[in-house]
Amino acid sequence: MDRSIFFLDQDKMPTHWYNIQADLPEPLPPPLHPGTKQPVGPADLAPLFPMEIIKQEVSQERYIEIPDEVQAIYRTWRPTALHRAYRLEKALDTPAKIFYKFEGTSPPGSHKPNTAVAQAYYNKKEGVKRLTTETGAGQWGSSLAFACNLFGLELKVYMVKVSYNQKPYRRMMMETWGAKCVPSPSPDTKAGRDVLAEDPDCPGSLGIAISEAIEDAATSKDTHYSLGSVLNHVLLHQTIIGQESMLQMEMAGYYPDIIIGCVGGGSNFGGMFLPFIKDKISGKKRDLRIINVEPTSCPTLTKGLYAYDFGDAAGMTPLLKMFTLGHGFMPPPVHAGGLRYHGMAPIICHLHKLGLVEAQAVPQVATFAAGVQFARTEGYISAPETNHAIRVTIDEALKCKETGQSKVILLAHSGHGHFDMAAYESYLTGKLTDYAYPEEKVKEALASLPEVTTA
Ligand SMILES: *Cc1c(COP(=O)(O)O)cnc(C)c1O
Repeated sequence: MDRSIFFLDQDKMPTHWYNIQADLPEPLPPPLHPGTKQPVGPADLAPLFPMEIIKQEVSQERYIEIPDEVQAIYRTWRPTALHRAYRLEKALDTPAKIFYKFEGTSPPGSHKPNTAVAQAYYNKKEGVKRLTTETGAGQWGSSLAFACNLFGLELKVYMVKVSYNQKPYRRMMMETWGAKCVPSPSPDTKAGRDVLAEDPDCPGSLGIAISEAIEDAATSKDTHYSLGSVLNHVLLHQTIIGQESMLQMEMAGYYPDIIIGCVGGGSNFGGMFLPFIKDKISGKKRDLRIINVEPTSCPTLTKGLYAYDFGDAAGMTPLLKMFTLGHGFMPPPVHAGGLRYHGMAPIICHLHKLGLVEAQAVPQVATFAAGVQFARTEGYISAPETNHAIRVTIDEALKCKETGQSKVILLAHSGHGHFDMAAYESYLTGKLTDYAYPEEKVKEALASLPEVTTA
């Protein structure tokens, strides 16, 4: 029998998250206070995050225990399955062996509840009553809505306006789980009002929505802020994906040669590859290739500058050392809303700078061509974000066909695309277009990077 799915039993689910900070060849550059330009301390972050999460952000412990309550909720849908893509391999006529770890079976349909549940848990434990957050395509907002509901927390979500209009069912999901969702820029915050005064038709961006959510949390009682990607603790929580995958690849009898994933802020892919990159750093698997895939219209790793920048558009967050297109950069309204972010997880940027991971940018239409080919072979309809990773997976498998090499490819499949059918229709009817790399706008945005002379 050709086994198509590698199931990990629930009693084999990892009980600890893996913290890459314990194994980095060089330490991460610290986040800086936007005023003093000195490294931020726990006191600077305490108004926004619970102490447990602040500790995780800087922890050097290799393994951090997943609280029992969080493990219990993970078991609602975890471990997720590792699939072998036999029909895709056959359609491509490739000797490559393609595996994909499918995060689309969580209740909200992506990897994002892996951290949402943990963040809601730590906030609840600290006595917080309400959370605020931003969301792009709505995956993060709906994941945090799902998690907050389980812990009895109130939630307000600032959803990027272009996605709010494109994806009404995501809003309805959030409301079903009891959250409140408004389009961003909104008139509810000063950050939103400032943007609307300049451009009433602004389509919004993750950067603006983050500014709104932070302002709300900082100025409201018993309220904390929650971020769905980028930060170290988010990638930490997502390592459940990679750790399960390691066990499942072992069940399959293979170790990947190439790991491929899409990156918006870097959380799903970081969660997948960090447990594996440990083997690359230690020399056990030196030639492992790790490919981060991003849109050509928002090419953070491939065209950005490695510099200190704000995580949000209004300049309220600490300064993070990352590849950035400039916090003022407004990415074109591609369907992959989760990839429309000017920055990238500092952990991934650091690894990229050290030459331990690669990056590739792909144009929108080609990603949907890949997503449709995947749907017509493997059956699953993937999120537009995930389609970026599928594109490069197919490209690498086709290269194997040319060279005759039967490489083992592991694809991080971040979620399903059931609420993105309008985007698929646009592709299927030939209406979908590419956005050129907005070079001038990036140049403009990069000109206004904050000055940092101390680091
Ligand atoms: C949010 C999202 C992404 C991008 O975010 P990362 O933090 O880079 O993982 C990718 N895929 C899906 C399905 C998402 O919901």
